[in-house]
Amino acid sequence: MHSPATSASSAAHPLPSYLNPHELGPWGQYLQQVDRVTPYLGSLARWVETLKRPKRILVVDVPIEMDDGRIAHFEGYRVQHNLSRGPGKGGVRFHQDVTLSEVMALSAWMSVKNAAVNVPYGGAKGGIRVDPKKLSRGELERLTRRYTSEIGLLIGPSKDIPAPDVNTNGQVMAWMMDTYSMNTGATATGVVTGKPVDLGGSLGRVEATGRGVFTVGMEAAKLTGLAVQGARVAVQGFGNVGGTAGKLFADAGAKIVAVQDHTGSIHNAAGLDVAALLDHVGNTGGVGGFAGATAMDNGDFWGVDCDILIPAALEGQITKDNAGKIKAKMVIEGANGPTTPEADDILNDKGVLVLPDVIANAGGVTVSYFEWVQDFSSFFWTEDEINARLVRIMQEAFAGVWQVAQENKVSLRTATFIVACKRILHAREMRGLYP
Ligand code: GLU
Repeated sequence: MHSPATSASSAAHPLPSYLNPHELGPWGQYLQQVDRVTPYLGSLARWVETLKRPKRILVVDVPIEMDDGRIAHFEGYRVQHNLSRGPGKGGVRFHQDVTLSEVMALSAWMSVKNAAVNVPYGGAKGGIRVDPKKLSRGELERLTRRYTSEIGLLIGPSKDIPAPDVNTNGQVMAWMMDTYSMNTGATATGVVTGKPVDLGGSLGRVEATGRGVFTVGMEAAKLTGLAVQGARVAVQGFGNVGGTAGKLFADAGAKIVAVQDHTGSIHNAAGLDVAALLDHVGNTGGVGGFAGATAMDNGDFWGVDCDILIPAALEGQITKDNAGKIKAKMVIEGANGPTTPEADDILNDKGVLVLPDVIANAGGVTVSYFEWVQDFSSFFWTEDEINARLVRIMQEAFAGVWQVAQENKVSLRTATFIVACKRILHAREMRGLYP
């Protein structure tokens, strides 16, 4: 018998310093989540150390010529956390705060997410520490192409498939696909997902993450008796994920009462005009200055009167310092890692239902999987078919996780980790150690 506790095995196999679990930050947050699931893994706990070390980490220098003739260097990463269930899969983030710890955590959350919705992928993630808003279009293209070339030894349609994440989009994916294809000598549409529809992209991919957030929110509302009609919703981040989820909730009769992004926080207790707000964000780059709302202090956003809170920006937003203020009955994590483990406990103790990132935002990668399948078969599906398959996968995965949570009397996050980590470690065990 193997002890379910991890501390003994961690002591016997000390982690390399860059994997230090006492390190604060996203990777430390992920390791605490793994510790919480370990007692539920049964005999598979023998393999749990696998989850605490990314399989492969690549750090690359990305030099580009700036428009003014200077040579600038940026630091880029691609981390393959686990490949037991299939090729690596996960987005690429361009942000000034990107760190290795963050990309490691994001790659691990992809392993868990992909297993939770049972798409045949491992987990990977990439990023460059850069503020893309400060780059010209030409500089952004050169950065993307050089980064793609540098990580070219890891990626490929059957090896590791990047996708959009924070500050990357269909155009960036088109440049990545083209660079990989030119370097390998054949057009390989399946090397990235989230491409423009005219380049082998999938209908419904742009909205997929927000649609998944909405789908699990509706399922949880049904199970808990929360009426979505008239429910008050607060959203942090009004980009691809938060904007789509906000629109779908508004279409279902909810009121979007507060929105926060990097340009400020806005409030309207009567409900914002979501279509007008999406236009404003499209024109100005953020929610700040929107005429149909009053500005509110960023710190007050967390205490706003609402029924549903959707963090859809970055990790580490709901912390022990603001979790106590949250009035929502349900938190749906559109972002990856928005809630720290201490904040998770505070929310659980208050009876706030948290729909965790690793299931709630899995709609994006689910439609990425559909895109990859369509690229391989060169046969493209209708948007209705894509949305129907997406909703079915999300509903089934959520129902399974809900049942595991009830049976084990654990949070939905731990339940999702139980389902996903068992799948990953079962695959790991069946494949065995080789060489
Ligand atoms: N970046 C998205 C995520 O965090 C999508 C990843 C993908 O489609 O591979 O889930």
